[in-house]
Amino acid sequence: MAIHDRNEDRAMPKPLASHLASRDDSEHPILEVDLVDEFTRRIDFDHRSLPITRSAYDARMAEPNDISTLTEESRDLLDDAISLRRSLHEWPELGNHLPRTRDEVLAALEGLPLGLTLHETTSGIVAALEGDHPGPTMLLRGDMDALPMPEDTGVEFSSRVENAMHACGHDTHTAMLAGAARLLTAHKSRLHGRVLFMFQPGEEGHNGAGHMIDEGLFDVGPLSDGSASPITGAFAIHTTSSLPTGFISTRRGPLMASSDVISIVLTGKGGHASEPFRTLDPVPAACEIVQALQSMMTRRINTFNPGVLTITQINAGTTTNVIPESAHIKGTIRAISETTRRMIHDGVRRVAEGIASAHGLEVEVELRDGYDVTVNDDDYAGRAADITKELIGADRFIELPTPVMGAEDFGYVLNHVPGAMVFLGATPLDKNPAHAAPNHSNRVFYDEACMTTGIALYGAMALRHLSPA
Ligand SMILES: [Zn+2]
Ligand SMILES: [Zn+2]
Repeated sequence: MAIHDRNEDRAMPKPLASHLASRDDSEHPILEVDLVDEFTRRIDFDHRSLPITRSAYDARMAEPNDISTLTEESRDLLDDAISLRRSLHEWPELGNHLPRTRDEVLAALEGLPLGLTLHETTSGIVAALEGDHPGPTMLLRGDMDALPMPEDTGVEFSSRVENAMHACGHDTHTAMLAGAARLLTAHKSRLHGRVLFMFQPGEEGHNGAGHMIDEGLFDVGPLSDGSASPITGAFAIHTTSSLPTGFISTRRGPLMASSDVISIVLTGKGGHASEPFRTLDPVPAACEIVQALQSMMTRRINTFNPGVLTITQINAGTTTNVIPESAHIKGTIRAISETTRRMIHDGVRRVAEGIASAHGLEVEVELRDGYDVTVNDDDYAGRAADITKELIGADRFIELPTPVMGAEDFGYVLNHVPGAMVFLGATPLDKNPAHAAPNHSNRVFYDEACMTTGIALYGAMALRHLSPA
């Protein structure tokens, strides 16, 4: 395999000045700003050298567990990853049906010795790479869908689809996973078992992982020699602009929150605004409910097992002199444990029904479960941290002190298989991630050089999981 000394930042598109000036870290922050500031102060970004030298690479070639060459090898795969990522970025697709994206992924995998399964209920693709030796199966996941929003990054490969943008980095995930399939194919002779590449649609609220599981994702069957090969590990990477390029963060236990939807409809009796005593006004009761829900959160929910309840929408009335018949309250519930999640659900119902009844109003409370809590397996997250430090250096790994209150459907995979998810930084090293537009922003910018680390880490996790020692 050719090894050369290209810089991490070549082929990086230049962000526009408007992007650099933007600051919107209120939406979907992955890290606390203070934390980012703290560790960006620790790092000298200007003179980073690669952790592995060419002579070290040569010397370690023979070791069976060796992952020291993977970063160099992944750098050779970066051009292909960038071109796939840009193509996906230009033509983003939403939801569970991503025909163009699927075709692109299949083209990128062409010629590799993979067993392909095309899912029927969604555009999910499962590609299986059998190693030369028997062993268990390791699942690597990348999601492929975009978000329904306009793009304002100004990059030359900006979205050509109206109201669709890869603003959560899933285009980079897909490109890295395809790169990892190529990387691991080159190490097929060292694999004791099978790698399952899960290309999933519909992460952004469409339960793509759940649909793939329902359609038999885990029914992997034996290897071609007839030996059993159950899935014993799972790993996913999520790109984030909240960390510098090539940095990795994760934690043991809960990593991301559950995400459920609140919908409360209060119904009273409408009438003239000048004669409220002849009506049953739902508006003051709706206001009381919003306030009481916040008191419920602080008084009933364990400080050390927290949750978030945010009312995001209140709709009632049409004009200034009419008391409306009904009021509609909507919002979201986030929690990092099933216990707190259910306590909040019970609390919302109790508060809404109690206040409605106190005012003689009818109430309908609907609490719809969204994604589960995404919980990293303790051992597996520890192993991922160790492998990451070995691969990229301990000073580029950050152990997150707290979970992130966003949600992820990779949690459904982790409900069945021990594994871990990590965040991969993608803000250029000369920029402060605390000031970067966050994931889901119309101006979010991902430094494509981060994909070298992502490809190498996917490869390292699979190689170590499927090694005999
Ligand atoms: Zn997202
Ligand atoms: Zn995402």
